[in-house]
Amino acid sequence: MNRKVLSGIEEIICSLPTSKTALILIWIYTFLGISLITPELRVYFEKWENAILISLFTVMIYRFLISFVKIKKDDPVNPGMCHDQESLPEKIFDRYAIHEAGHYISFALYERKPDILTVYVNPFHCNSSNGCVFFKYKDSPSNKKHFENLMFTYLAGSCAEFILLGQIKNGSSNDNIDWERTAKHYLNSFNTDYPWFTDPQNSSEALVNNQTLDNLRKKQWKEVKRFIENNIQTIELLAKEIKTSKTNKIETGRGLDILSHVITEV
Ligand SMILES: [Zn+2]
Repeated sequence: MNRKVLSGIEEIICSLPTSKTALILIWIYTFLGISLITPELRVYFEKWENAILISLFTVMIYRFLISFVKIKKDDPVNPGMCHDQESLPEKIFDRYAIHEAGHYISFALYERKPDILTVYVNPFHCNSSNGCVFFKYKDSPSNKKHFENLMFTYLAGSCAEFILLGQIKNGSSNDNIDWERTAKHYLNSFNTDYPWFTDPQNSSEALVNNQTLDNLRKKQWKEVKRFIENNIQTIELLAKEIKTSKTNKIETGRGLDILSHVITEV
């Protein structure tokens, strides 16, 4: 899972051309444009060295702006950001689709569904994870059950891979970090039956906390496994729709339709 998004203006900047031809054209147009629009600047263009330097400087600013935004280029939320790269092999794409479908269907357990809930698999090689479930609430719930569900969601991607494909290969490190951060928040904020020190003072208290995290994870993993096993068909259906959709993305409306088929008893 990955929840980064580019703003509208960043997407526009990201889609600007960066080929050599485009840069040369921008250079020429900058040169002509500035000298035509602002006659008082023409004096700087009388010497060809100045003209070249000023236009080159403009092209450098243009390139810097694009590269600055493209740090987020591999963001799998945004279809089309990696179009200049090689396609993913089909098997790897399918694995990402199963993993993300696992995360996605867990939202069927949420009493209140997010206002935005999309899933996307990037069909091109990227530096970061190729899959993404994006969810957003206008006002996020803050009750105990919501955090239990969130932890469940973070485990569900790897669990879907494990149940349907027999092995976990994708994105589990990010999911594990998200799971642990949420679990700590959950244990710090709510009363549970688990032994937990909000502010451990020594190594034995820290050890108790680690054991609690371990036990909580094992207990949840068992539940997630049952949930995934009950919903293999829905995961396969969603993964197939991600693959066959033109944009490799399922929008909130269709996604919520699919969630209505999910068996929620665990
Ligand atoms: Zn994941």
